[in-house]
Amino acid sequence: EITFDSCNELVSRFEAVVKHPVKGTSSVYYTGVDLGTACVVLAVLDENYKPVAGAYRYADVVRDGMVVDYIGAIRVVRELKAELEEKLDTQLLYAAAAIPPGTDALDGGAIKNVVQGAGFEITALLDEPTAANAVLKIENGAVVDIGGGTTGISILKDGKVVYVADEPTGGTHFSLVVSGAYNMSFSEAEVYKRKEENHKELLPVLKPVVEKVASIISRHIVGHDVDEIYLVGGTCCLTGIEGIIEKQTGIRTRKPENPMFVTPLGIAFSC
Ligand code: ATP
Repeated sequence: EITFDSCNELVSRFEAVVKHPVKGTSSVYYTGVDLGTACVVLAVLDENYKPVAGAYRYADVVRDGMVVDYIGAIRVVRELKAELEEKLDTQLLYAAAAIPPGTDALDGGAIKNVVQGAGFEITALLDEPTAANAVLKIENGAVVDIGGGTTGISILKDGKVVYVADEPTGGTHFSLVVSGAYNMSFSEAEVYKRKEENHKELLPVLKPVVEKVASIISRHIVGHDVDEIYLVGGTCCLTGIEGIIEKQTGIRTRKPENPMFVTPLGIAFSC
């Protein structure tokens, strides 16, 4: 069984294979495709469900869970697939994908078509919190996914998702705050924000927007019996974000070492 520690181990291993893919002799590979607002991530597991490769690219093809650039999305997934196939010296056939909570069936269809259009056979289409929990293995608590465009809140009871919500505040808003505070363009702010060495200086600047996210979290979990919050999603890479959220919500808040890779890995696990 995977615990929070082995989630960290898994994510660390994935980070390592993103840099140095492990070519092997696996008879089958499983790929997770995470199409996000800010970022498209592919995670590849071998027949033993060990991460062997991964790739990601910042792309503007999805907005708040909706595919807005269909052709662009296919191109990005196809290119990342080809890049990984070359590195692994194999063909990647099977993929799973996920849709954000609350996205309607129609857009689930669009995501499925993108993955198929990129040349994969799709084996599963699941919702993002279920995917994240394939790695986190939480029985009770809230999984909060702060992505690019939105914050998703999912409440788990006895290992099952019992409540989901998705609110339009995410990393894009963080970048807008940085852009305003430092008089930078949005894309400069985006790059500046992602650098870990800037996080200490940025945290006080971003505190109000983090507190806004925390108030959104509180609003959704009120009335549910939540003892722990688990943070996933790229925006949670911000050093110290967990402390502000914990203080503001009054609920113990934990995050894995690289929260950005939890959902993509979980998608691959469900392949
Ligand atoms: P959504 O879930 O809203 O569709 P997404 O799936 O693209 O979006 P993620 O890939 O989880 O979201 O996260 C992307 C966001 O995380 C972006 O706003 C990006 O700037 C932010 N981000 C990524 N890395 C870092 C970092 N190291 N520090 C701070 N923010 C980061």
